Amino acid sequence: MTIAEYDAIVLGAGAAGLMCAAVAGQRGKRVLLLDHADRVGKKILISGGGRCNFTNVNTAPDRFISANPHFAKSALARYTPTDFVALVERYGIAYHEKALGQLFCDGSAKQIVAMLLEEAAKAGVDVRTGQPVSDVTHADGKFTIRFGDQYFTAASLVIATGGPSIPQMGATGFAYDLARQFGLKVVEPRPALVPLTLGGGDVLFRELSGIAAPVEARAGKAAFREAALFTHKGLSGPAILQISSYWRHGEPVTIDLLPDAQQGWLIDAKRTRPRSSVRAALGAALPDRLAETLAERLALPGELGALTDTKLRDAEARLSRWIFRPNGTEGFAKAEVTVGGISTANLSSQTMMAKSVPGLYAVGEAVDVTGWLGGYNFQWAWASGHAAGQAL
Ligand SMILES: Cc1cc2nc3c(=O)[nH]c(=O)nc-3n(C[C@H](O)[C@H](O)[C@H](O)COP(=O)(O)OP(=O)(O)OC[C@H]3O[C@@H](n4cnc5c(N)ncnc54)[C@H](O)[C@@H]3O)c2cc1C
Repeated sequence: MTIAEYDAIVLGAGAAGLMCAAVAGQRGKRVLLLDHADRVGKKILISGGGRCNFTNVNTAPDRFISANPHFAKSALARYTPTDFVALVERYGIAYHEKALGQLFCDGSAKQIVAMLLEEAAKAGVDVRTGQPVSDVTHADGKFTIRFGDQYFTAASLVIATGGPSIPQMGATGFAYDLARQFGLKVVEPRPALVPLTLGGGDVLFRELSGIAAPVEARAGKAAFREAALFTHKGLSGPAILQISSYWRHGEPVTIDLLPDAQQGWLIDAKRTRPRSSVRAALGAALPDRLAETLAERLALPGELGALTDTKLRDAEARLSRWIFRPNGTEGFAKAEVTVGGISTANLSSQTMMAKSVPGLYAVGEAVDVTGWLGGYNFQWAWASGHAAGQAL
């Protein structure tokens, strides 16, 4: 049996693996980059509706969720959105800023994958795809792995196989199995940036499928002010996707349905338009069917002028803290990312190397660091890949 030897083997040719392999290769390392999928960077290709929201100019550590909120700081500080934008500009890829600091390609996400592949090629990285990875072992300071029917060995092994979100794209929990094999802990993985499902008393809201409104959504201490969208299964839209990363089963999600309304607005409406109704007052600020459903739930029929100020104040309070009790999420099949993953307690925040297994690294979504919606997850993939690529 022949075993080809490299300095480093990177498992997973997604965002973090491509970056890591290219950076290590540019430092003169002999790098093998392996992926079981038939092509590299599949999630990059479908990201941002095909235009890849490749970073966010507002990147800051507090926009990432992890059991250790300090872990991501070092890597994020050493490879910033400006660094990635400089790379994008060197390749002449046109881009634009959308809302909230999100940077997208003008053209196609394919340009980002082509750029990363060219970086890897220039660095002499050996990229191979389309075979299963198996039989990972570690002995005498070397990792040996099987790829299809070939064996490869290296002193360094990088786990860059991502999280289990969107299994139909080739995503697996392989990173966690491998981490456990080497004695690393895994923080319970949960689907994140995912629509929430409604049942029970909230099921009526599913009839509003397709209706969106700007809201402020809260779960625990987290709050996001963006659009929410009612779906035939429950709730989606950016505000809900963001809050889903913080939401835990059994907890309520509180929604301010009129975040821009002044305190006392219903009482003001009563004074200025006493013959009007709660339904009409809501209809002036919200989509019609939503206004109708909310008015039904508030059960305050008749003219505003006939309702007491106390009742109107209570209605206002309810509208600003409408409580939904999601009965679940749409799961990994619909989740943009995974919260949880390989515990940061086991890794160096400088190099991403496992403290207890010299030569073993983990980067990207496989690690227990998850960004907000809006380009943050790619920025973590680039930054963590870069940190490991410099250390290999
Ligand atoms: C629909 C969608 C849209 C998204 N849009 C955005 C966006 O616009 N902006 C943003 O910042 N983030 C976005 N994300 C999240 C982003 O894609 C991920 O956070 C990011 O790709 C993680 O990078 P990674 O390299 O860690 O993992 P991945 O990019 O998932 O790469 C992992 C690689 O490992 C390979 N692999 C998996 N299992 C094995 C195995 N057993 N053996 C060998 N190889 C394996 C996979 O084939 C894959 O190529 C989106 C995600 C989805 C699903």
